[in-house]
Amino acid sequence: MVCCVLWFNSRPLLVYKDREQWEKIGAVVWEVSVHEKMVALTFDDGPSPTFTKRILDLLSKYKAKATFFVVGKQAEMYPDIILREYHEGHEIGNHTYSHPEVNRISFEALKEDLFHAHQIITQITGGNMVLFRPTSGFYDDKIVKTAHLLGYKVVIWTWGQDSRDWTGISGQSIAMRIIKTVKPGNIILFHDQGGNRSNTLKALEIILPVLAKQGYHFITVSTLLQKDLHKITN
Ligand SMILES: [Zn+2]
Repeated sequence: MVCCVLWFNSRPLLVYKDREQWEKIGAVVWEVSVHEKMVALTFDDGPSPTFTKRILDLLSKYKAKATFFVVGKQAEMYPDIILREYHEGHEIGNHTYSHPEVNRISFEALKEDLFHAHQIITQITGGNMVLFRPTSGFYDDKIVKTAHLLGYKVVIWTWGQDSRDWTGISGQSIAMRIIKTVKPGNIILFHDQGGNRSNTLKALEIILPVLAKQGYHFITVSTLLQKDLHKITN
């Protein structure tokens, strides 16, 4: 794999790196090295007027903080939910404005879409956003460099910690698999919009008390990154 990115007229020439190289420079995150029992719950595609509020209620019940990778279009429709997420201490990350397949659009289109979402969401909260989750977890030089240009770190999720809640599997199955395999520093993927998320809620109802009893803390991705034993500033 090639290890450098060449820029020409502000366009990145597509040079693929593998995971190890991205991780080494701290540009893309899958999980974080920590000793203490802490994990980051993340929710993509919201906000949803039906499910996000119920997820927020559950998180609040267990004093859990999470990271919501929100879609700009949804944020425009439900700014009150974005504000609630923000005021309750959760982190809000950028998950594009229109949820395109980020690996299939041009550098310019991606930059525009991300910036559009950035403007809408930061106008609602009045705060900054520093994390970007690409749609479907795609990453290549174009995606990482565009994110970096706009001041974002790319956050994927821990391999094996995709809840697959969008497939319609039961909340019980989601919860059991996560509880069995979770490790400190993991970043877990859920969705709070895009279909019936009753299974996501059910899974959380099981996961939150069980992991809390095991001594786990639920923190935002940025807080988790601050605890990184191999911290890289870039
Ligand atoms: Zn998504």
